[in-house]
Amino acid sequence: SLELNALRKEFDGGSIVAVDDLELFIEDGEFVTVVGPSGCGKSTTLRMIAGLERPSSGRIHIGGNDITDVHARHRDVAMVFQNYALYPHKTIQQNMAFGLRMSTDMSAEEREQRVYEAAEMMGIEDLLDDTPEELSGGQKQRVALGRAIVREPDVFLFDEPLSNLDAKLRTTMRTEIQRLQEELGITSVYVTHDQEEAMTMGDRIVILNDGKLQQTGKPTEVYQNPANQFVAGFVGSPS
Ligand code: ATP
Ligand code: MG
Repeated sequence: SLELNALRKEFDGGSIVAVDDLELFIEDGEFVTVVGPSGCGKSTTLRMIAGLERPSSGRIHIGGNDITDVHARHRDVAMVFQNYALYPHKTIQQNMAFGLRMSTDMSAEEREQRVYEAAEMMGIEDLLDDTPEELSGGQKQRVALGRAIVREPDVFLFDEPLSNLDAKLRTTMRTEIQRLQEELGITSVYVTHDQEEAMTMGDRIVILNDGKLQQTGKPTEVYQNPANQFVAGFVGSPS
């Protein structure tokens, strides 16, 4: 499970409240989509879960353990970004090996095997000796997903992973991510600007505004029973 307790992030000495005492409990294997207007705190929330940003207050638990003060490298979390975040001068093999946790005591052969298996799962095993610049956008996103898988995380974090891809590729990659979810059953938090993506992919949807949780529930429930005007407007509920 992933649990956020009164998670808060302020910037500029408190003049910006990016995330405002967020409470959220996500069960093992749940796929939760997160939506809300630009600047509502979606990325900041993911970055705190990943350990890339320190909360101003509040706690984060994974599998019941408080990981708020654990270094990013030692969290069982993998994040996939919109811009892929690959090292341009390293091979795909090397990029994916970066996903492996430093702490794990593994031989070079084991590492290579793990990378190969993840690459196979994403259908990119023939690209392992290439560099990112030789790859298409879709292939780069497959590498980014492969690097996340190789980590065998307890939690997957996605920050608008498909928004740089064209519509057709987006549909393909959406299916790929859903397949991964079915095969691996990893607890996932998926931020998107795409309403349809949020409604169709999520077991549950989370709606944020101004750093605050507006509503969470099954997509159909939220659509049919919006908690407030903001949610109704945002998900396009019939009035
Ligand atoms: P988008 O949909 O545009 O990606 P978002 O929901 O991901 O938006 P965040 O990036 O989490 O929003 O930003 C939330 C708020 O925090 C915004 O007001 C943003 O300007 C502010 N913010 C984020 N990072 C910083 C920072 N490093 N310094 C100051 N303010 C920041
Ligand atoms: Mg963002």
